[in-house]
Amino acid sequence: MSHFSYIDAFPNPQYCIEIADLPTKDGEQARYDFCGIDLGKLALGTVRIADQAMDIGVDVQRLLDGFLVKITTPISIAGECPQCLEEYEYELVEPEEFTEMVFFPEVVEELVAEGDKEATDLPVLIDNKIYLDPLLCDSYILFLSGLDPNCEPDCPGLCSECGQPWRDLPDDHKHEQLDPRFAALDGLWEDLNNQNDHA
Ligand SMILES: [Zn+2]
Ligand SMILES: [Zn+2]
Repeated sequence: MSHFSYIDAFPNPQYCIEIADLPTKDGEQARYDFCGIDLGKLALGTVRIADQAMDIGVDVQRLLDGFLVKITTPISIAGECPQCLEEYEYELVEPEEFTEMVFFPEVVEELVAEGDKEATDLPVLIDNKIYLDPLLCDSYILFLSGLDPNCEPDCPGLCSECGQPWRDLPDDHKHEQLDPRFAALDGLWEDLNNQNDHA
């Protein structure tokens, strides 16, 4: 069992690279391809990763303290616009690149021993493997957090009176304002009713 908090959120990681398959010399690199990666539902608020099965490339370089992992992934985004409530979906033109350092456990143990409590959150090799699930999930969620959740930057939203999307309404769309004096009377009438109810 690992005592590192970083893996706790992923009790059943599926995708990994064994140390036996990783570069053995400092500075050496290798490339790994994973097809049909499925991480389940990745969402933040109203936006989510739409891909069900992703093909990703993983470039790994061995360094003194661990492995530098560069993940190249296509990304499709889906969401419900919080302004107009419409569903949208789009794919990024260019694949996204995430880079993360995965440390040897003894490096992190040393940092913790030196009093760096936050070091327990650093990615580490678990059972001599680089697990991609936590790296990917963290990276995708961080990516989602940087997105505009609206369907377009200046989404006009909904009419506050009738709830119709402004983009479907004519420019001169408006609702008759109730005469404020009648509105006041309405309020009075309601108050009287409430008093009668409680009498
Ligand atoms: Zn919208
Ligand atoms: Zn309206």
